[in-house]
Amino acid sequence: MADRNDKWGDNVKGKFYVDRQCIDCDLCREIAPKFFKQSLEGGHSIVYKQPKEDSEIKICNEALESCPVNAIGSDEDDN
Ligand code: SF4
Repeated sequence: MADRNDKWGDNVKGKFYVDRQCIDCDLCREIAPKFFKQSLEGGHSIVYKQPKEDSEIKICNEALESCPVNAIGSDEDDN
């Protein structure tokens, strides 16, 4: 399970995030390229845009469920 206290600092603010367990496998970027991308630092993914519409949230949840190391979380505060 992803830990919001261990998320990468370059995620965009909001509900979805990638934490430090990420192994940079690329899967989330393939599933939801409008929301996940590789960090500029390399070596891990980040969320660069938060989903708003139901269909967008659905695709981000699909990425979350597909992550092989459970590095994607969706429990961060929106504030
Ligand atoms: S699917 Fe998981 S491990 Fe793979 S790049 Fe995305 S966050 Fe990282």
